[in-house]
Amino acid sequence: MSLTDLTLRAIQQRLQARELTSVDLTRAFLDRIAAVDGRINAFLTVTGEQALADAALADRRLDEGRGDALTGIPLALKDVFVTEGVRTTCASRILDNFIPPYDGTAVARLKAQGAVLLGKLNMDEFAMGSSNENSGYSPVRNPWNPDYVPGGSSGGSAACVAARMAAATLGTDTGGSIRQPASHCGVVGLKPTYGRVSRYGVVAYASSLDQVGPIARDVEDCAMLLQAVAGHDPADATSVTLPVPDYCAALKDGVKGLKIGLPREYFIEGLDPEVQKALEQAIAALGDAGAEFVQVSLPHTDYAVACYYIISTAEASSNLARYDGVRFGRRVDRGQGLIDMFMQSRAAGFGPEVKRRIMLGTYALSSGYYDAYYLKAQKVRTLIRQDFLDAFDRADVLLTPVAPTPAFKLGEKTADPLQMYLSDIFTIPANLAGTCAMSVPCGVSAEGLPIGLQLIGRPFDEATLLRAGYAFQQTGDWHQRPAPL
Ligand code: GLN
Repeated sequence: MSLTDLTLRAIQQRLQARELTSVDLTRAFLDRIAAVDGRINAFLTVTGEQALADAALADRRLDEGRGDALTGIPLALKDVFVTEGVRTTCASRILDNFIPPYDGTAVARLKAQGAVLLGKLNMDEFAMGSSNENSGYSPVRNPWNPDYVPGGSSGGSAACVAARMAAATLGTDTGGSIRQPASHCGVVGLKPTYGRVSRYGVVAYASSLDQVGPIARDVEDCAMLLQAVAGHDPADATSVTLPVPDYCAALKDGVKGLKIGLPREYFIEGLDPEVQKALEQAIAALGDAGAEFVQVSLPHTDYAVACYYIISTAEASSNLARYDGVRFGRRVDRGQGLIDMFMQSRAAGFGPEVKRRIMLGTYALSSGYYDAYYLKAQKVRTLIRQDFLDAFDRADVLLTPVAPTPAFKLGEKTADPLQMYLSDIFTIPANLAGTCAMSVPCGVSAEGLPIGLQLIGRPFDEATLLRAGYAFQQTGDWHQRPAPL
């Protein structure tokens, strides 16, 4: 087994026992990136020299017995996280030359533990997309088959883990951007509850929905990475002061007696038969492991996509106002006067999907339409959240598909944005409800593409979510199958 195939916790054990140095390990990952990323395009920036220097420091810290959980472990970050001195583009041409002066909180917490950062990962521009085809720097390709998309928007993060180019990565999830690419790339991704992880220093897309979370090889690795970044941060007013439990401690308690809800509205006509079959097998396996199943209903599911694409675009239109060539963003210095300069800079810097969403969002917020669209969407959002709270009266976690189909081919859906939006139907509701959810591998299609299942947990009950995910993982070996790169 090569070093890059080790899980986070196997790496941790070997580093701490000093059977392995962080420098050797970091070199192995950098070699792997050099060997395979030409075919995947997951990295926008590789910080090789800095990584090796940090690895050497981590080795010293480990030698002196001062290691933390992630000391010396090579990780990589979606390019939505601002990183001091390291170019941060959000995969947008408008931020092509942006070098942030500080680290965001999640990044600072990883660095404080002595994690080694290998670089910044490709994504859909400003995290808007489900396929990575909206990147301003060419799409990421799926390590299971380069003709297929890796999912989005954290497609670089998921593909990076699947192709063994980092031990684990951080992504963000506004409407499924951690879970859907994790599912399409055969890895595990967890979107924590809104408020669980600080978004300070994360480029904002839709601020009432955005959340930071781990993408990793398996459930235990996800728990370890979540542990490192979770918890209150005074710099993010939406982060909560609730204590952070020990996520690894309860992981192995099993699912005996756990009530798993199956939402009727998620098992519908139009679900790909192979996804359906993989889910049925997963349900049977969890039943054998002692879980109890109950039917639940989330009656407002049909409205979730429309509701999300009003709220998220409205918030995006406001958040993206700062890219004007003055406060942030590349300036186009032609034109006549200030307004013209703003317009030309934005016209040149943003890609087509970002422009579409700014226009949709600006329209939804404009006077005369605000009540009809934005206010209505907020009311629907409350109903969707209530659906989940009612379901959690009867079930401890919910089990659903992540996406209606396995990964699709590059170019297959680009002509029809609505088709692309509709494929987010199963992931969006958890963001609107603000609760936690994760994607765990549960099958591979006849074409050789991974399939994931989604578990949705009660707000702030990531511990039970992880426990259910771990129990499912123990029933098979889907998470251990490597992408045939
Ligand atoms: N695919 C969704 C969108 O395009 C979700 C994106 C995300 O979670 N950042 O908005």
